[in-house]
Amino acid sequence: MQIITKKAELEQIVRACKMRGQTIGLVPTMGALHAGHGSLVRRCVSENDVTFVSVFVNPTQFNNKEDLLKYPRSLERDAELLHSIGAHFVFAPTSEEMYTAEEMNNTFSFDFGGLDAMMEGAMRPGHFNGVVQVVSRLFYLVQPDRAYFGEKDYQQLAIIHYMVEHSSLAGTFGDLQIIGCPIVREESGLALSSRNERLSPEEKQTALAISRTLFASLEWAKEPKATVQAVRQRVIDAINAVEGLEVEYYQIVDQTTLLPTDTFGHAIGCVTVYCGPVRLIDNIKYA
Ligand code: AMP
Repeated sequence: MQIITKKAELEQIVRACKMRGQTIGLVPTMGALHAGHGSLVRRCVSENDVTFVSVFVNPTQFNNKEDLLKYPRSLERDAELLHSIGAHFVFAPTSEEMYTAEEMNNTFSFDFGGLDAMMEGAMRPGHFNGVVQVVSRLFYLVQPDRAYFGEKDYQQLAIIHYMVEHSSLAGTFGDLQIIGCPIVREESGLALSSRNERLSPEEKQTALAISRTLFASLEWAKEPKATVQAVRQRVIDAINAVEGLEVEYYQIVDQTTLLPTDTFGHAIGCVTVYCGPVRLIDNIKYA
């Protein structure tokens, strides 16, 4: 496995892969890798001749400076994990290598077809512009046949699909396929996240109430008189009742349009919860 830090070197390697007729898979990450990332990389390795993993804490998608500063970084450990899974190339550039000073201010502006109107888009202004800015750049550099994203960041996955299929950038990435992968959880139910590293052992215990409540809500939704509104409120109340947790939002939306829905068919519930200072996200599909 080779670690690349320069765009020019990356482009040269990609050209050589293309000349050999190899298929290319890409897994974009921000590092601090765990088994959730591992599942994406494993699938990528099994479906492509060559696997590239990017490890880049993208400053333009952070609307909160402190969150950016505190984001865990562990390239050496990440490289060991990626090597053991069979990734071929790790692209780990500096911010200066990725962006000009102007681009660093996230002057990128993108039409999301309304998919960013709520949830993460509403709570983190500019976040998805930054995501699309970095992901589109990675797509141009790596020219993958397939790119892998986790359903853990469900709205992000929907927006990447939109970017590739419907936006003004559609068609500019060749026949690129976007592949969504299921959430990987600890045995306890807690969704794996790089941000879990910032939780104390007690906070980690407290955070279990998030997934526990989401799973319980699958049963609540089956009760004879269950309504989406009532289940949504019950989830919010149950999580807020736990000391140390505070719900930022819980929305039950259509899995494709991400618009609020009144039925559980094709619905997904997306939650963001503060556990102490750490912002955690999770989601659950009702059908
Ligand atoms: P991040 O490093 O947080 O930007 O995540 C990189 C990719 O890994 C994204 O596509 C995430 O959705 C995905 N991912 C993060 N956590 C998980 C998880 N627990 N299960 C599956 N995929 C995940």
